[in-house]
Amino acid sequence: MLNALTVDVEEYFHPAEIQASVGPEQWETLPSRVENQVLQTLDLLAQNRVQATFFVLGWVAERHPRCVRAIMAAGHEIGCHSYAHQLIYRLTPAAFRRDTMRAVHAIEDACGVSPWIYRAPSYSITGESLWALETLIECGFTHDSSIYPISHDRYGIPGFERHAHVIHTPSGPIHEIPAATVRSSPSAIMPVGGGAYLRLLPYRYTSAGIRKLNRDEEKPACIYFHPWEIDPDQPRLASGTIARLRTYSGMKGMARKLNRLMSDFRFSTIGTVYGRPEARKPLIQTETVGQVTAAS
Ligand SMILES: [Zn+2]
Repeated sequence: MLNALTVDVEEYFHPAEIQASVGPEQWETLPSRVENQVLQTLDLLAQNRVQATFFVLGWVAERHPRCVRAIMAAGHEIGCHSYAHQLIYRLTPAAFRRDTMRAVHAIEDACGVSPWIYRAPSYSITGESLWALETLIECGFTHDSSIYPISHDRYGIPGFERHAHVIHTPSGPIHEIPAATVRSSPSAIMPVGGGAYLRLLPYRYTSAGIRKLNRDEEKPACIYFHPWEIDPDQPRLASGTIARLRTYSGMKGMARKLNRLMSDFRFSTIGTVYGRPEARKPLIQTETVGQVTAAS
């Protein structure tokens, strides 16, 4: 079974946990680490002969176009991770559209590729921001991987369809590829998508989850991580015990865990695992925002 490996490309100061203590007005003053982190990530994937989908932040694409071109040159797939890493449910539809188009243009300018797949900052397409899917379709996206079908304090849609499916909206259809989860009991859904869960929990938690998904449900897993998670020397900017634990624990062992994951399971890009569009959709110049219905 081929699984999807995805990488969210952002600076160590972009995660929502960090933005609580370091705001966007300070970003320009902080030392950048993303280029080295991405190069290390590319080495890790090359050693394992794995291709992945890289969701690039527009803010990073604008400042580090060489980094985006290095990802492309290594044969990986380019997706969009918004421009300014803002939680979508805190944006208006108009602000979300502006952020999305700014990101698309930054990525196009950096590498010449128009992204067709989107990943929201902190999986922030939730029950209250499902309207964002319509905006994504109107901005030319055919695929989205922004929904985590779990309960969490900052993201998630509990009870949402757990496997890749098409969502029909008034603006058209979009392919949704949720982060990997397993059903641990008739009523409990557990996250196994990677990121902090892979970093903080024992390796066997994630590996058992992917195995269960592949064998019992015969479905691929969509796994994610961030280049900053393999950089234990980064400045510690998060404040508060929970934020520091979630952000910095387990970084020393993260590269080893990723190596193990890539040797125990087969991975490729979202386009290879779930299919890619023949062409990116044209922009729809409409401002209408209607009701979204999820097909399950
Ligand atoms: Zn992110």
